[in-house]
Amino acid sequence: MKFNKNLESIRTYEAGKPIELVVREFGIEAKDVVKLASNENPYGCSTKVQKAVGDILSNMALYPDDSMTKLKNAISSRFDVEVSNVIIGSGSDQVIEFLMHAKANSSSKILVNSVTFAMYEIYAKHVGAKIIKTASQKHDLNEFYDIYKEQKPEIIFLCTPNNPTGDAIDRDELFKFIAKIDSDTLVVVDGAYMEYAIAKDSSKEIVVKELIEQFSNVIYLGTFSKAYGLGGMRVGYGIADAKIIEELYKLRPPFNITTLSLEAASVALIDEEFVQKSITLNFEQMKRYEEFALEQKIDIINSYTNFVTLCLNNNQNSTEISNSLLQKGMIVRNLSGYGMNAIRVTVGTADQNSRFFELLKQCL
Ligand SMILES: *Cc1c(COP(=O)(O)O)cnc(C)c1O
Repeated sequence: MKFNKNLESIRTYEAGKPIELVVREFGIEAKDVVKLASNENPYGCSTKVQKAVGDILSNMALYPDDSMTKLKNAISSRFDVEVSNVIIGSGSDQVIEFLMHAKANSSSKILVNSVTFAMYEIYAKHVGAKIIKTASQKHDLNEFYDIYKEQKPEIIFLCTPNNPTGDAIDRDELFKFIAKIDSDTLVVVDGAYMEYAIAKDSSKEIVVKELIEQFSNVIYLGTFSKAYGLGGMRVGYGIADAKIIEELYKLRPPFNITTLSLEAASVALIDEEFVQKSITLNFEQMKRYEEFALEQKIDIINSYTNFVTLCLNNNQNSTEISNSLLQKGMIVRNLSGYGMNAIRVTVGTADQNSRFFELLKQCL
């Protein structure tokens, strides 16, 4: 059977291995498997969210509230924007998919950083668009601008802080850059880890209201999967000029967010205390990774997120090391597919991190 030609060049996205798979494959008990591969919140989610979701478990027969009024109101007041500026997706992934279909086709070009979130490229390929990558590993906005001038891409993706490297773009630089981009080019600012960046360094904070008020061609993406600890609920959002949001709505499947997810995300936004506590613990634990890297003479990228990227030495192979860690029940992300001899490790709880240090030492 013939399929859409666009699919031929797509390598299926490999998500972090689930714990259940390691249990089956290596016969390790689930309690001995540690997953530090997908940047989930190791402290779970707010107990207020758990209670709220429990309270509505008896209401599963009806379709969800497709207007999503409760969550949209919560997001609009959190960011001080209008409800018409907000779209909610099944993860911010789905918003990326919408905007790709809204803006690009097989004659489009999409500009991304050389090392960045893999889904931009996959969604670009769905519509047959051409991906153009920078050479620099860190977002170099001068390079982005030079390529933009020459290639005139339909969409530019800026991921700040960036996954899988953890570095972040300065707010002032980002605003100056976008000001030079013509208003028909869509600029996507993916802030999946922004809550962490703001806590570490206020010069990295992108104030969403300012961003969308200054620029009608920008969409900001956020997610409940990371700092809010709701990866299992699949909720993300896009915030932009109402004209952009209106177009994205044409692509949205009905009832794309479940009743449970809508409730979970709405309540999660109210419990700021849980998020702030997770972030504080994250950076406390991250110091241990920095010390460990120094001690082991491994390079670590300064991270504004809940993960660290360890750039291994020439005599260490990230594929071999992540495989041996896996056999010991430690799931991390091998970055060889990004052309890096590095592993990305989610900063876990104190116990999980101690275990990681112990196991990695055995592998080095
Ligand atoms: C995790 C992540 C997302 C989206 O995650 P969802 O779970 O789909 O909301 C988007 N961008 C980056 C850079 C991420 O790391």
